[in-house]
Amino acid sequence: MGLSKTIWTNPTEFLRVQQPETPVLFFAPTVLQAAARRFIDSFPGMVTYAVKSNPLEEVVDNLSAAGVRGYDCASPFEIDLIRRLAPDAAIHYNNPVRARHEIAYAVERGVKSYSVDSKSELAKLVEMVPAEGVEISVRFKLPVAGAAYNFGAKFGATAELAVELLKTVAEAGFIPSITFHPGTQCTDPAAWETYILTAADIARDAGVTIARLNVGGGFPNHRLHGVVPQIEETFALIDRVATQAFGADRPLLVCEPGRALCGDGFTLAARVKAVRDDMHVFLNDGVYGALTELPLIGVIDRIEVLSPEGHKRTGDVLPRIVFGPTCDSVDRLPGEIPLPDDIAEGDFVVVHGMGAYSTVTNTRFNGFGELGMATVLSLKI
Ligand SMILES: *Cc1c(COP(=O)(O)O)cnc(C)c1O
Repeated sequence: MGLSKTIWTNPTEFLRVQQPETPVLFFAPTVLQAAARRFIDSFPGMVTYAVKSNPLEEVVDNLSAAGVRGYDCASPFEIDLIRRLAPDAAIHYNNPVRARHEIAYAVERGVKSYSVDSKSELAKLVEMVPAEGVEISVRFKLPVAGAAYNFGAKFGATAELAVELLKTVAEAGFIPSITFHPGTQCTDPAAWETYILTAADIARDAGVTIARLNVGGGFPNHRLHGVVPQIEETFALIDRVATQAFGADRPLLVCEPGRALCGDGFTLAARVKAVRDDMHVFLNDGVYGALTELPLIGVIDRIEVLSPEGHKRTGDVLPRIVFGPTCDSVDRLPGEIPLPDDIAEGDFVVVHGMGAYSTVTNTRFNGFGELGMATVLSLKI
């Protein structure tokens, strides 16, 4: 996968001229940079990027160009990527469980911020990381709804344990901070409110003034016509609640969005391989390809269909069962997908908002998964 140097006007032009037989992801750097500037301009603190959501070098380069100065990394590979592409950027190593060789690597690469959610992993950090000028952020979880799936099942201390961890962090001479991650595609701003109020309780109970509060990622991208992300409203709520909860001890705020930065800068085009007996639609991409996330967090309805000549199909919308190309029966998009009833073999199904957890989770299962890439000026078809 690599970007050709040619920049196309929009996906339609590319599809009409190239007639690709593999799925293609269209990347609009202007859209990505606008998303980054929107966060930088309105978030009341530091904006970092969760590299895992889309680690393409073009993405990191464009986010850096737009002014992103910090990156949330989860592995030595991601640390190395950011050190190479954005050498002066801050790296937050926010994977709460690390092997010792991974900690050693981070120390060697000058990483100054780590998150933790357990006593055993904190003990490893205290043992291996020199405390001077290094932040340890205690990650806690709450049983709150609002996100597309529950991250708390894997990571996050209870509030009670977080109090204990925070005390240890401060006693060991590290810069004490708190972090949480409300879950991905979190469309309910109220989730942040509960988390911030609890973070203040944890700091108070520990008797520790925290330097920073990292409010996680989880901000949504635009997946459904009817659900437009309330980004500025969510930031205003975070700002208000942080002051209300911490008063004079208000910490600096950090956020670490992945999806909300990279999601809307990419549009996927998959080709219709067959409309089997006028019913089931078979695409050349599916849940083992760039569409991996759909069964996990729900379908995207920002879909348009183009004929091979690049004309928009305008037939009445008909819900269809849509399958991916592999021989695995799991390879089916969830539910039924609303598609125009004049959809035909050879058409392109264009899915917007596809930049997050797509390039990086695409597999070669069954010999499929070759994903084309093209840079475009605009994603409007
Ligand atoms: C995955 C992850 C993120 C990014 O999540 P998005 O939903 O893509 O914003 C942020 N922080 C942590 C700790 C994560 O694991």
